[in-house]
Amino acid sequence: MAAQAELPRVTVFSLGGTIASTSSGGGGAAGGVRPRLGAQELVEAVPQLRDVAELEAVAFRQAASGDLTLPDMIALAAEIIRRFDAGSSGVVVTQGTDTIEETSFALDLLVRSPRPVVVTGAMRNPTLAGADGPANLLGAVQVAAAPEAGGLGTLVVLNDEIHAARFVRKTHTSSPATFRSPTAGPLGWIVEGRPRIALRTPVLDGLPSVLDQDVPPVALVTAVLGDDARLVERVEEAGYAGLVLAGFGGGHVPAQVVPALADLASRLPVVLASRTGGGELLQETYGFPGSERDLLARGLIPAGFLDGLKARILLSLLLAAGADLEGVRKAFEQINASVSSAGAGEAGR
Ligand code: ASP
Repeated sequence: MAAQAELPRVTVFSLGGTIASTSSGGGGAAGGVRPRLGAQELVEAVPQLRDVAELEAVAFRQAASGDLTLPDMIALAAEIIRRFDAGSSGVVVTQGTDTIEETSFALDLLVRSPRPVVVTGAMRNPTLAGADGPANLLGAVQVAAAPEAGGLGTLVVLNDEIHAARFVRKTHTSSPATFRSPTAGPLGWIVEGRPRIALRTPVLDGLPSVLDQDVPPVALVTAVLGDDARLVERVEEAGYAGLVLAGFGGGHVPAQVVPALADLASRLPVVLASRTGGGELLQETYGFPGSERDLLARGLIPAGFLDGLKARILLSLLLAAGADLEGVRKAFEQINASVSSAGAGEAGR
């Protein structure tokens, strides 16, 4: 009881998604579940939270996560920073899992604080047997309340696993174990309510700083067998300010797409990522037309360890911050360099 006043203060923001979705009881077109519960109701449904933190509940948005936008994330990041300034020790964001791999990385880039920011959600909505929302919310608050979870950038916590936003991907349509970090693995786990951080990620350098709410549109195009460049040729006239190309394997496209990509890269930032979903982009292996060496020599910017979805978030925020082509190239380089400095005596930041 006396401990209550000493509990860390954690702010829980709700944004909708499956974790907040219930049914109205109607059938037909009105059937199915949709986001209805807010942060206060989510918190009240998990009485164990009272032993972990002093909670502050903020209903921030009520959306399917595919309807969230980068301006929403910019506004959320500003609100998170305000809550930290007002004394919160950690923040939890609940939202739909469909876009967590993008929104959490946006927060990773936007919130510069040594305090933990943890994003969570659910795969089974509250009307189903085995709903995972309450356990995920409890785990997320346990991590957000733990000082050792600070300084790791934004985290994603579901299914008792702790992932770094910069590495995590949604890999399954319905499994509660959908979140995976194929390139780096999870940073840790939760056991008997205790967060365990096994690996530490470094603070990212080269982050966009001045942000406009008006985020320029960036296209993401995936290379496909037999691609003839007709989408790439239309990127500029469709009004996009940049392109992320998710190439085959180590970063390749069919040879016939190269002229259109080279032409576009002379005017707009064009970032080359891999469509594989794991590993880092190659830079110096293959020499055929359409290979990574060919494309990088023609001005495409390597995404490094970032997949296409995350590279698109970074490019969008850099453009919103007013970065030019060189600024974009430098930021991608810096962010990749800061990750490769992990383990070089930086532990504990
Ligand atoms: N299926 C989604 C979820 O897991 C719905 C959404 O992303 O809003 O929450």
